[in-house]
Amino acid sequence: MNSQLQTKHKAVGLLSGGLDSTLAAKIIHDLGFEIHGIYFSMPWGCCHKDKAQEVADKLNIKFIVMHLDEQYLEIIKKPRFGYGTALNPCKDCRIHMFSRAYEYMKSINADFIFTGDVLGQRPMSQLQNSLRLIEKESVVEGHLVRPLSAKLLKPTIPEEKGILDRTKLFGFSGRSRKAQIKLAEEFGITDYPNPAGGCLLTDKNFSRRMKDIFKHGYRDFNEAVGLQWGRHFRIDENFKAILGRNAAENETIVHHAHQNDFIMALEDKEGPTLILKGDNPSEDVFQVAAGLVQRFSKYRDNSSMKVSCQCVRTPGKPRSITAKILDNSQIEEMKV
Ligand code: SF4
Repeated sequence: MNSQLQTKHKAVGLLSGGLDSTLAAKIIHDLGFEIHGIYFSMPWGCCHKDKAQEVADKLNIKFIVMHLDEQYLEIIKKPRFGYGTALNPCKDCRIHMFSRAYEYMKSINADFIFTGDVLGQRPMSQLQNSLRLIEKESVVEGHLVRPLSAKLLKPTIPEEKGILDRTKLFGFSGRSRKAQIKLAEEFGITDYPNPAGGCLLTDKNFSRRMKDIFKHGYRDFNEAVGLQWGRHFRIDENFKAILGRNAAENETIVHHAHQNDFIMALEDKEGPTLILKGDNPSEDVFQVAAGLVQRFSKYRDNSSMKVSCQCVRTPGKPRSITAKILDNSQIEEMKV
């Protein structure tokens, strides 16, 4: 391929910060393409933003962050192609990301999108049929290159047009990562994270919390983001409580509270912070929430204590609530 011609072509790469997408970026970069790297920021883990940024910096390529937002919650709620082991809608998730990357590709007149997908590596989204389905549904058909497995897949449009030299791509498949590790050595890539397993949607406990807000409702995206911190309890269908498990979580849950929520803590502040979620709680709901604060403090076996409470929207002088004493079975019943 004429290298002067190649430099005129652009490619959009999905960067996760993991080894496979790093290798894919390096392969396409070394073939002379101008690369725009997209990192999808997912509130519940999965990828490695710092690493992805590092890859972009090292290869001197553009780095664009796209956020998965409210619209993505609808995908989790009703995925067209089902879930993986928990609440992870991997096929729909990939379709969503590829569709957005494709829009970006068109907007900058790039020739194709590429990913670090390896045929057969992940059961739900990387089997031959899944790769094809994802490609078709995200309308990127023909424009999606998987440099690590390209030789095992149908030639793409840039390959057919001669923009991308198929002989320079690879034919990796399966769950073993030996071939990728060997290629990383050849490229001198040594510092890469373990395969991403951090997507909380694949976690059954986290999924239970997500299902709970789908059932009972949420007021904004932040409430879904905040599901990852603290202990969660459903008091009744309109109210739930989140308790921090340490000082850092106490701060984080306050930061993610809704304007109509209430912040509760023991009056001496020794113990967890609780966020009571829901609009206009009754006195009984306040007392149960106060009971949870006491229960998860060092005063759990004391007689009923006073818990301070103030609304996020109107922080003023906190009011004092008498904690309801809760037994184990009540706590267990409320756990989400
Ligand atoms: S594990 Fe699945 S749901 Fe989670 S980010 Fe990856 S593709 Fe999306």
